[in-house]
Amino acid sequence: MRRSLIMGNWKMNGLRQDAVNLASALAEGLGEVAQEVAVCVPFVYLPDVAQVLASSPIALGAQNVADQASGAYTGEVSAAQLADVGAKYALVGHSERRSYYGDTNQSVANRFAQAQKQGVIPVLCVGETLDEREQGKTFSVVDEQLDAVIDTVGIAAFANAVIAYEPVWAIGTGKTASDEQAQEVHHYIRQRLAERDADIAANLQILYGGSVKPDNAQGLFAQPDIDGGLVGGASLDASGFLKICHSV
Ligand code: PEP
Repeated sequence: MRRSLIMGNWKMNGLRQDAVNLASALAEGLGEVAQEVAVCVPFVYLPDVAQVLASSPIALGAQNVADQASGAYTGEVSAAQLADVGAKYALVGHSERRSYYGDTNQSVANRFAQAQKQGVIPVLCVGETLDEREQGKTFSVVDEQLDAVIDTVGIAAFANAVIAYEPVWAIGTGKTASDEQAQEVHHYIRQRLAERDADIAANLQILYGGSVKPDNAQGLFAQPDIDGGLVGGASLDASGFLKICHSV
């Protein structure tokens, strides 16, 4: 039985006091939930948020991780540094990284590997653009994104990883994939991995991301291959995010 995971992605929003306030509101408001909840916060506020969340079940995540272990990589943050400040998760390959900062399938695979070496769980983001969907390339794009990681780290590495299917056309646009569209791709991803290792595929958490909101979360999370969500914009509002957390 897979445990659900609801993960907020605060992106590059707010200042320290906003991060502390939001984390405090979540810690105070979450109550009893069976699923896991995590927040991916800006690097510089990881220690502050770690402190606020110390006695709460909410886990801490980063929004990226370096593709190298350490050294002369100005501006990067290593997996060891993330682990050192208490990050449990790191997003890798978010579409904003891929499209604005040139993260390639191979660099995403290297980031994934670096995170795992330090015990940080990589959350591998995959998904197609609107153009790619309209040209019928959704599955082949997702295949390429997955294969680069599998070829680099091996299928066994997915025993300790999370995948987030995030159709690029649905991120921050207010357009959500329908429950059926999302389920179709989640099922496809699970099947693809099952061809290599059925147990790992059956136990893998696959999150949906793309304009998840309190009013669409329940339908998405009810799908058999959707194990929770990666929530951007709606995770900046504590009460809305808490509603999403309780939609599982
Ligand atoms: C995201 O940041 O990964 C995301 C899905 O954003 P939004 O929920 O705002 O579409």
